[in-house]
Amino acid sequence: MSQEINNETSQLNGTPASDPAQTKKREDYLEWPEYFMAVAFLSAQRSKDPSSQVGACIVNQENKIVGIGYNGMPNGCDDDLLPWARSADDRLDTKYPYVCHAELNAIMNKNSADVKGCSMYVALFPCNECAKLIIQAGETPTHTQMTTHADDPTHTSRYKGRDLFVRQVPRHP
Ligand SMILES: [Zn+2]
Repeated sequence: MSQEINNETSQLNGTPASDPAQTKKREDYLEWPEYFMAVAFLSAQRSKDPSSQVGACIVNQENKIVGIGYNGMPNGCDDDLLPWARSADDRLDTKYPYVCHAELNAIMNKNSADVKGCSMYVALFPCNECAKLIIQAGETPTHTQMTTHADDPTHTSRYKGRDLFVRQVPRHP
């Protein structure tokens, strides 16, 4: 029965049927960290921010996703009305006072009672405000592939050059 299914699948894929005993599992599948980073990057594509799109994914100790978020205006606030500019004479005309970062939204969107002991995968190096939020929520460590902002002392999760809790996830080749 399983051989028939394998043959049928192979024929559907346009490849010749092979000996089922020789069929091995795939070797180039995504490892967990790469998979969760990919979910974070996919979530970023939901962002309406014209200058930076960031996604975050919270994972519990069983490798189950318990929260996803991306940067955007607060719930119920008209994102056609609020400003998206990065600079303006008046800071209130920029996006910065209003946009909720991906990490904040992922924590607020969690579908578990809490996120203690969970890990967060985020598509950009966390800012200092999100770093505090992540630590206070009980998540550690946080994973990122991005080094953007990593050396900016006003926008980092570092103290005197030492990472407090951020680990780099290697990129999938
Ligand atoms: Zn942030």
